[in-house]
Amino acid sequence: MKYVYQFNEGSKELKDLLGGKGANLAEMTKIGLPVPQGFTITTQACNDYHQVNRGLTGDMLEQILSGIDNFEELTGKKFGDNMNPLFVSVRSGAAISMPGMMDTILNLGLNDETVDALARKTNSAQFAYASYARFIEMYANVVCKVPKYLFDVILRRYAKDYNEITLEQLLDLISDYKLLFIEETGLVFPRDPLEQCKNAIKAVFDSWNNERAVIYRRLNDIPNDLGTAVTVQEMVFGNLGKTSGTGVLFTRNPATGENDIYGEYLIDAQGEDVVAGIRTPNEISTLKDVMPTIFDELIKTAKMLENYYRDIQDIEFTIEDKKLFLLQTRNGKRTPFVGVKIAVDMVEEGLITEEEAIMRIKPESLNQILFPTFTKETLKNAKRIGLGLPASPGCVSGQICLNPKEINKYEESILVTLETTPEDIEAMHCSSGILTCRGGMTSHAAVVARGMGKSCITGSHDVEIDLSAQKVRIGSIEFNEGDSISIDGSTGKIYQGVVKASSSGFSTEFTKFMDMVDKHRTTEVRTNVDSAKDLEKAIMLGAQGIGLCRTEHMFFMEERINHIREMIISSSTKERKIALDKLKNYQKSDFIDIFKTLDGRPLNVRLLDAPLHEFLPREELEKQKVASSLNVSINIIEKRIQELHEFNPMLGHRGCRLAITYPEIYKMQANAIIEAAIEVQKQGIDVNLEVMLPLIIDLKEFQVLKVDLEKIFFTKIEESGIKIDYKFGTMIEMVRGCLLADEIATEADYFSFGTNDLTQVTFGFSRDDSVKYTDEYLKKGILEYDPFKSIDRKGVGALIETACQLGRETKPELKIGICGEHGGDPKSIKLFSELGFDYVSCSPFRIPTARLTLAQLELEK
Ligand code: ADP
Ligand code: MG
Ligand code: MG
Repeated sequence: MKYVYQFNEGSKELKDLLGGKGANLAEMTKIGLPVPQGFTITTQACNDYHQVNRGLTGDMLEQILSGIDNFEELTGKKFGDNMNPLFVSVRSGAAISMPGMMDTILNLGLNDETVDALARKTNSAQFAYASYARFIEMYANVVCKVPKYLFDVILRRYAKDYNEITLEQLLDLISDYKLLFIEETGLVFPRDPLEQCKNAIKAVFDSWNNERAVIYRRLNDIPNDLGTAVTVQEMVFGNLGKTSGTGVLFTRNPATGENDIYGEYLIDAQGEDVVAGIRTPNEISTLKDVMPTIFDELIKTAKMLENYYRDIQDIEFTIEDKKLFLLQTRNGKRTPFVGVKIAVDMVEEGLITEEEAIMRIKPESLNQILFPTFTKETLKNAKRIGLGLPASPGCVSGQICLNPKEINKYEESILVTLETTPEDIEAMHCSSGILTCRGGMTSHAAVVARGMGKSCITGSHDVEIDLSAQKVRIGSIEFNEGDSISIDGSTGKIYQGVVKASSSGFSTEFTKFMDMVDKHRTTEVRTNVDSAKDLEKAIMLGAQGIGLCRTEHMFFMEERINHIREMIISSSTKERKIALDKLKNYQKSDFIDIFKTLDGRPLNVRLLDAPLHEFLPREELEKQKVASSLNVSINIIEKRIQELHEFNPMLGHRGCRLAITYPEIYKMQANAIIEAAIEVQKQGIDVNLEVMLPLIIDLKEFQVLKVDLEKIFFTKIEESGIKIDYKFGTMIEMVRGCLLADEIATEADYFSFGTNDLTQVTFGFSRDDSVKYTDEYLKKGILEYDPFKSIDRKGVGALIETACQLGRETKPELKIGICGEHGGDPKSIKLFSELGFDYVSCSPFRIPTARLTLAQLELEK
């Protein structure tokens, strides 16, 4: 097994094996860019290491040792040498970038002897000893888990940071650090570079499983068995004085997508300093004045890399005494909004094809694309109190939360903190927005927030935190933890109190992108809506019709609910009909609006489905209202409610069960729907009507109900003298319905899978209460994911497949769709697409995601 690759042996195609960082360092070496020498230990080695009890042994160790030999030959330097010592960094890097989640150690190879050699070589004892101190700190922290703050405390006794300390102080500092190391670990700080190196490699392997990395993988759906590669690379020093420096650069602006170089740097600093946000860095354009030649070389190289990788690049560089070195390049993280803009721009620039652009965008990311903005109107009365860097767009309001551990204390919280560290990712994920005092546009907070699509402002000097008092001063105003503020991550502006945000329209790039997507998609995307208002929004988002119109939702509003209560509580058919007549008028006018808005697109109506208990009056006042409408005493109402009580309402008297017992309900609905259809059609607007019955378990059940409905449709259409087509379909959402689908298909024109109920009855998990135990199932690894979010392929999927097969045996042209929540979930859509569904239907905000998912699946085929 080959565990170790020299840079000149690897390439960008070996990402899975060498990690993104290792593969790209190899690629950059191959194309002749200035990259310090090095080698990469594979992700396979990481996995083997974790399997064989965390040891660097046998084959793996041998290859690492010969890698170092080779390295020493190439550079002419030697670990621990008194004249020409070798110094390296030991860097982590998985196949999928997880910025800052795992560990990296710099300056490795320093000890009491080599530090002097470094001092002689560079002519700067100050620099050499500062590097040594940093190394002890980093090594102790990463390898031996000695908390960083213990070192900070010692450092503060001497100076503010490593840049402001004298040489004498440094010598004392280093002995203090070594003492601390002994106290904390019981060991002497290792002087042998090879031992340092082996321990560092092990520590980086171990960092694959540290808490923040595990959380990051869970949040981003990254498999746990990928493993991290380890890159061992010769050090170049950006902290060699005024002619050195380090920085980060994006080939385009990752916050707006503008095609402008964008980045930050620090003179006389090591790479970590920019990312950690300790010193606020300078904007890249100013490097032109400080080091014009380097600046030109950097820009040229950056553009070259972007063309080469054909994507926006995020580049790390270091300048060692007027010489430029590249330390990393990767595809830049960006917000969903910017991702779409860049993809469309690159198609127009001819850099990538339409297909590539489509494949590049993560479907889920489109859920957030319509992030809210503060409008001119709402800003009129808002008080601006501070300004920071616009790190990640989005306008949000929330309560100030100073402790990341307590982020869930408020419904909407803004995490206000000095700077974020990788430990904070869970808190960032749960927050509505992030505001930091330190760090630049490429700091940890900024990069992670953009990846998450979270609004974020960084490096605001207007914000001062007093943790002991649990207070924050922003500009001239003092806030307590829990007070509300608002932030605009695209301008960096901070406002007092809650500023109302509203959804923005689409960017032109978004519209162009979705047009491309639709060119490559054939499966229809419909929406689940119950009103003309929601429908309008859904059509804007690309809905091609309604896949599920839940008629019971039309009854929840004020006066209507009283009528439906009358209907439920009525004790005779006669009473019930009176109540139903009132409901019919509402329903008819709703359908008229919906048909008009649809303008010929299909409407799939589901007849009343809801469990009765959802509508029963609970409050005294509500009961009284019903009693007086029905002209009976409140006791009678109480008695009726008692009679209607069910122990298990979800498996109870609902859906077509209700229609079997009270046929007049569906008859009323049939009348309302067909009258509306006729009226609209008469006005010259096409109607395309589908009516379906919920919870069907048997062909006979379906027939009994259908006969009544068809009679009404037939008569009304006859009377009207115009032609209207309609279809009768069924929900398939009960296990028996799946298994008898061949029989049901003899009468049903189409199937629509109700995957929420089907999941509920297949698992026997209540969809409303199951969170309590599914969490535990997920933690224990019994279930891989929540079956109410993504379709359970093994069980529910098998039932769906059976039902499709059986249904198509009877009726090859049978139309099949899905209207459960899974209709907007990319993982689930994959199954529906494989089974050849005619359409998926989902909530409006998930329509773009569904469109993109389907296009990607069809392109993959
Ligand atoms: P991360 O994955 O967290 O970005 P890196 O391995 O990229 O960690 O290391 C962090 C920083 O350390 C880099 O951005 C770079 O500036 C610095 N660094 C890493 N290796 C070297 C090296 N060989 N010489 C100089 N600086 C280095
Ligand atoms: Mg890096
Ligand atoms: Mg259902």
